Amino acid sequence: MTTKPTYIILLGPPASGKGTQATKLREALDLPHVASGDLFRYNLKNETALGLKAKQYMDRGELVPDDVTIAMVLDRLAQPDCAGGALLDGFPRTIAQAEALDAALARQGLNIDRVLNILVPDEELIARITGRRLCRTCGEPYHMMFKKPKVSGICDLDGGELYQRADDTEETARNRLEVYWKQTSPLIAYYREAGALVDVDGNQPIAAVTQALMAAVSDLKTIE
Ligand code: AMP
Ligand code: ZN
Repeated sequence: MTTKPTYIILLGPPASGKGTQATKLREALDLPHVASGDLFRYNLKNETALGLKAKQYMDRGELVPDDVTIAMVLDRLAQPDCAGGALLDGFPRTIAQAEALDAALARQGLNIDRVLNILVPDEELIARITGRRLCRTCGEPYHMMFKKPKVSGICDLDGGELYQRADDTEETARNRLEVYWKQTSPLIAYYREAGALVDVDGNQPIAAVTQALMAAVSDLKTIE
């Protein structure tokens, strides 16, 4: 039996909960979590040519150029563990990226199955961003107020050290939100027209958002 690969996009401004929710969804859907920001941070940590190129943009909260980003993500999607599809987080972020992704999938007779548009007010996002901490080992996100680790500064999952991203300061956060509204939010209309978009209220407790997202994809795959 062969089933068509499933492609789901998590769309939403920075700190709308994409990373947190992806952790829950990837298990339920049995799809690999492909996060462009994580791929860039991995390259940065390992000081690859790609990482060095991306750094100047990331530090300012700006988007890395489309050609570099598209090549990186399409390369990731071509790896064997993505044969059944992927849960995309942070990509696409521009119309050019969305068109490149659509074209790459269309060449294989595939398409985006669903785009989950997570809605959160701007003021709430700033509070979330500045309180955010991540595990150095596994990348699991935490929050100083909303999702505290059991032991301060330590990851619940693997005991890794928690750190604050260099681009999670208030100034960079405001710039990233501006970039989102200018360059990424046009994707909402793009995917709505394609009939793939579902709006989800992201301004509720984490578990309630997870439930709403699950309901929005329940027809795509059998969820245990
Ligand atoms: P994120 O972890 O998704 O917030 O991404 C962190 C940073 O990586 C962003 O502020 C951008 O500089 C860069 N980045 C991540 N995804 C993309 C993308 N799809 N297009 C351009 N730049 C990106
Ligand atoms: Zn961890």
